[in-house]
Amino acid sequence: MKPEKYVYLFEEADGENKKLYGGKGAGLAEMTHMGLAVPPGFVVTTEACLQYYQNKKRLPKGLMEEVQSSLKKVEEKTGKLFGSPQNPLFLSVRSGAAISMPGMMDTILNLGLNSNTIEGLIRITSDGRFAYDSYRRFIQLFGKIALGMDEKEFDQILARIKEKSGVTEDIDLDADCLKDLSGQYLALVKKRTGSPFPEDPMAQLSLAIEAVFRSWMGKRAIDYRKEFKITPEVADGTAVNICTMVFGNMGFDSATGVAFTRDPGTGENVLYGEYLVNAQGEDVVAGIRTPKSIQEMKKEMPRTYRELERVRKTLEAHFHEVQDFEFTVEKGKLYILQTRNGKMNAHAIVKTSKDMVDERLITQQQAVLRLKPQDLEQLLHKQIDPNFKGKPACVGLAASPGAASGKAVFDADEAERLGKLGQKVILVREETKPEDIHGFFASQGVLTSRGGKTSHAAVVARGMGKPCVSGCEDLHIDPKAREAMIKNIRINEGDLITVDGSRGDVYLGEAPTVDPEISQHLLTLLSWADKIRTLGVRANADTPEGAVKARQLGAEGIGLCRTERMFNAVDRLPIVREMILAGSKEARGEAIAKLLPLQKADLKKIFREMEGLPVTVRLLDPPLHEFLPSAEELASEVRNLKEVDAAFSTMENISNAMKFLDPSFRESLKPLEHMVGDIIEIREKKLDKKLIRRQQETLRKVKEMREVNPMLGHRGVRLGITYPEIYKMQIQAVLEAAAELLKEGVQVQPEIMVPQVCTAQELKWVHQLVQRVQKEVEKQYGIKIEFKFGTMIEVVRACMRAGRLAEVADFFSFGTNDLTQATFSFSREDAENKFLPLYNERKILQDNPFEVLDVKGVGRLMMIAIEWGRKTKPDLKVGICGEHGGHPESVEFCHTIGLSYVSCSVPRIPIARLAAAHAKLKEKDKKVLEGYDPDTSFSVLPY
Ligand code: PEP
Ligand code: MG
Repeated sequence: MKPEKYVYLFEEADGENKKLYGGKGAGLAEMTHMGLAVPPGFVVTTEACLQYYQNKKRLPKGLMEEVQSSLKKVEEKTGKLFGSPQNPLFLSVRSGAAISMPGMMDTILNLGLNSNTIEGLIRITSDGRFAYDSYRRFIQLFGKIALGMDEKEFDQILARIKEKSGVTEDIDLDADCLKDLSGQYLALVKKRTGSPFPEDPMAQLSLAIEAVFRSWMGKRAIDYRKEFKITPEVADGTAVNICTMVFGNMGFDSATGVAFTRDPGTGENVLYGEYLVNAQGEDVVAGIRTPKSIQEMKKEMPRTYRELERVRKTLEAHFHEVQDFEFTVEKGKLYILQTRNGKMNAHAIVKTSKDMVDERLITQQQAVLRLKPQDLEQLLHKQIDPNFKGKPACVGLAASPGAASGKAVFDADEAERLGKLGQKVILVREETKPEDIHGFFASQGVLTSRGGKTSHAAVVARGMGKPCVSGCEDLHIDPKAREAMIKNIRINEGDLITVDGSRGDVYLGEAPTVDPEISQHLLTLLSWADKIRTLGVRANADTPEGAVKARQLGAEGIGLCRTERMFNAVDRLPIVREMILAGSKEARGEAIAKLLPLQKADLKKIFREMEGLPVTVRLLDPPLHEFLPSAEELASEVRNLKEVDAAFSTMENISNAMKFLDPSFRESLKPLEHMVGDIIEIREKKLDKKLIRRQQETLRKVKEMREVNPMLGHRGVRLGITYPEIYKMQIQAVLEAAAELLKEGVQVQPEIMVPQVCTAQELKWVHQLVQRVQKEVEKQYGIKIEFKFGTMIEVVRACMRAGRLAEVADFFSFGTNDLTQATFSFSREDAENKFLPLYNERKILQDNPFEVLDVKGVGRLMMIAIEWGRKTKPDLKVGICGEHGGHPESVEFCHTIGLSYVSCSVPRIPIARLAAAHAKLKEKDKKVLEGYDPDTSFSVLPY
């Protein structure tokens, strides 16, 4: 259905409706309502853009008439006329979708300039230089964006004229040169397009609107939306903002700049930004001239600085959010050209959240929602090791924090190529442009020789959480020669460098890095998250050190302690092998008896660290052959030993021969005689033969244990049932450790968990074993031990039999690594290296299901298991301990389907805490369930 209207004056538009007016349009409308000095203008809606695409890329009927009538009102307000040579009105035409996509779509400035209006501009401003500078910029921008010309040709003409005039900076070109340049540009347009440059301002305007619409489907905009998962539900089409031009290049009482209401790098509550006197906005954004810090404006333009301070306060008080705004000062008058929520790194989000709550600008809940769990990951980024004494080769601006090393590459395509090969690269450019976006994705960090902290490179890297050093002026890059010079040091493409975006340092080679500390502000924010969330957060940890760290990071217990990790320690492995290779039950019993005290001691340490919190100990899971060397290794060792043995028998012959040597010769061969003596001793004791036999025996055992599908083989509870003495020892270790600590007065909450269960009979079998051991231990220690008994749910059949399993189990824990493997029949060991990337690329699968929980398949099984399990046992505790337990979207799903807790790797605990709070706050819309097949019945939903 055709909407009533496509075009709205800023004062008519609803500043809350970003979907219709785009973020920029809504911001301009809102600022106009607030009485801020926004140049008059209007917005063409995103609906018009969608209509344009539906209309086979033709502007919707009536659109230009609406534009014309809005333009009339703007003319009335400004007292200027569009296309008039006497008093001309010029326009900026900017894109703006519901979600900010910085630099991804097109913008045209100075629209309305032609061979007539330029005369008007010269007359009004008495500044021919300024007028022709605006003209040449307009022709170039319009040529590139609206007429699809190659920008390089314009740059070549500019370079020639600069050379001819003997200047290096654009600003040094005089009016005549710029006039000449404009003339050459117009000729180039005619040559390349076959038609003269459009003179009619209305024709210019309609071509510009179309160009902005087209840029919505441009490659870099599509890539950006794909990368940041911007779906049509979030942003569909771009609006076009048409605004009166104000000029920051009208002399030294004019300026242009960008500012943040707080420092987006540190979060500090100060006006932050950059500006250039006598310049246009694009000079700042594109990093063509290195701008000054806004603090310098205090001295240079004190009145404007004070006004900006007022604007800063007004914006924050209204939007309750840090704003990133653009401004222009035209002959001393300040205009605000746009505002949007400021993109900040996670560190700054944390600091500003805490501060804004203290300042009563936002609530604790809003503060928690400001920090996206995925952004928190940035705080877990590496920093340069503070003990590192290396000297930076050069220093630029600290544009985006974190540190990264990689091979220097000088263009985005090469970065992408090497990135795809799995290599770490740093993208090194003079300045970056939006078309470099694929290079950013592929790089570990970015380094530029030009541009400020708000240049394209800085903004994009910050948004991606990648380190960036910008404006590194000592760096001279020659992209053609694929090299850069820092003073007299040459960096060739492929040389390793390190960028420290927190300090602005650049090092040659790879500098050592360390993990960052968690700040007090973050701890406060996380404590607010804890007050909100209802989902528990535990850790997957199997060492006392892991337990300590988990507790520090706020884990409320251990949800998975993999006991096999304890078997793999250097001092344990020989005993474990002894146990596996034992020829009889007795021999196995002896080895197991040696393991018991070790396992008990490990568990005691972990229980002690987690005093007062539950610790889920999983009984042995992996197939036993994982503790033995591979058949290939063993076969080669046997071969080598046999060769040594053959060499030894030759030595025996030498020894016989030596007996007949002349004594004086024998004396000189004395050292050899000693060695031969040792060898004879080895052979007499048959040590070499024994060694060979032992390795042959191990090889035989490995071959005997070989399985075609070990992950579906003799592991988990199957192993426990065939070798009950192993599980018995482990159960004993858990219960004895608990008993000893209880006697010391340490509060322990052990939980015994059985892996790979698929039938209730298996679980019952282990349960009986547990009960027997419990009786023995309680009798031995004279103490009652409280503990829980439960099962992992990681086999499809276990989900189907959840009702029966819950008869025996006090808790379930979803092992979604195996459950995903079992549900898809994808090998978790191989799929990610084989076909999964292609599946993702071809959109056969949206995500990697081993990383992002497959809510439609695996999630569905989980919901069934929860419902059936709780039908049997309403208070059944249910958790998850697969890798998905630390993935934000998966955590939200876990909350929605009623899990009691998630258990994740230790570093991800803060992410899970935050994600759980977000899930609770977003609970009402139950968005996560939208992905379900609508044909399916929802009877299994827990609500
Ligand atoms: C799982 O399968 O999800 C799990 C946690 O167990 P593991 O990764 O040890 O097989
Ligand atoms: Mg598993």
